[in-house]
Amino acid sequence: MSVADRLAPFGTSIFTDMTRLAIEHDAINLGQGFPDWDGPGFVKLAAARSLEGGHDQYPPSHGVPELREAIAARYGPLFGRDLDVSTEITVTAGCTEALAASFLGLIDPGDEVVVIEPFYDSYPVNLALAGAVPRYVTLRPPLFEIDEAEMRAAFNDRTRAVVVNTPHNPTGRLFSAEEVALIAELCRRYDAIAITDEVYEEIIFDGEHRRLAATEGMWDRTVTLSSLGKTFSLTGWKVGWAIAPPHLTAGIRAAHQFLTFTTPTPVQFGTAEALRAPDTFYSELRSSYRSKRELLMAGLEEVGFEVYPPQGTYFMMAGHAAFGQPDDRAFCRYLVETVGVVAIPPSVFYHRPEDGASLVRFAFCKDEATLTDAVQRMQKLAKG
Ligand code: PMP
Ligand code: GLN
Repeated sequence: MSVADRLAPFGTSIFTDMTRLAIEHDAINLGQGFPDWDGPGFVKLAAARSLEGGHDQYPPSHGVPELREAIAARYGPLFGRDLDVSTEITVTAGCTEALAASFLGLIDPGDEVVVIEPFYDSYPVNLALAGAVPRYVTLRPPLFEIDEAEMRAAFNDRTRAVVVNTPHNPTGRLFSAEEVALIAELCRRYDAIAITDEVYEEIIFDGEHRRLAATEGMWDRTVTLSSLGKTFSLTGWKVGWAIAPPHLTAGIRAAHQFLTFTTPTPVQFGTAEALRAPDTFYSELRSSYRSKRELLMAGLEEVGFEVYPPQGTYFMMAGHAAFGQPDDRAFCRYLVETVGVVAIPPSVFYHRPEDGASLVRFAFCKDEATLTDAVQRMQKLAKG
């Protein structure tokens, strides 16, 4: 194997590993977060129309104007400002590329970056590629709240950025007004920027999604990232975007132009149509996910898990102590081998794996029959 030293420590993504295991065991995959139904017809039709003609060459590097305008129309009111499509919006290959472009384009080697853990798995890798020094702030069960003292201690004069994922994968937290205000206060005090990953912004059950970019004094120092995949059940399309003031957009674009240069044209036109969906689209999305959440939560509790109810996202964390396995990896192996259900071991989302060892993450972006089948299978798990 020849892998550069920068990347060698990170191995294969847990999502690849667990989906492969699901296929090998013909198991129900509640691991990797992708819906098991097709995306909306009106969005696919718009992409298909674009495929029919006239859009086969490179689009502009930072996105087709139709899509940037649709992004501005949807997000402007949420931020309480008019967004400039030529200097404040960049279309990327999913939020994954938007994250990479933000880290590589805005962070210098040696800069410190505050990372809330459990983290999305690409953050530490991107930070390593950027040469940044991570400072971790840990969320712990049962509430997964930000510890104020820990967050304050993580910031200092070398802090360049904080990465904030809300609604949060894997805990399902929506950070509260107080938590967001604390992060904003520290960014202002230490002249740091916030890179916010809001890909689950529309999948919320309890409470409100609070945007750092819309928080007092934060527009000028916030990069807001999101994507099409979760809201429109089109995770394979890989269209994302970065919204940021011009001075931060400059850094993101400096990296984006040499990472991918641009994003495939037909899916950009489809995405523009998606973002023009009526409000009912979003309320139906939430109500459908609410039923799935209730179903899985009740099922897992009955089986004997300690469930930590998510306020948003399509993930659910649970404690597996009742089943007598030494840690999360052992539990996930036992789960697939004995009952044919795949979940994610959350220790991979912590810099000290022991912090996630008592937990397991289930995805509920699956049809209700699949979730019911998974719960029935898990009823056979032995306790103790
Ligand atoms: N951030 C988080 C928190 C995620 O869960 C995901 C989903 N894979 C991503 C970013 C990546 O999003 P995309 O598929 O748009 O690249
Ligand atoms: N975001 C998805 C999850 O957390 C997976 C993304 C991926 O496969 N890279 O399950």
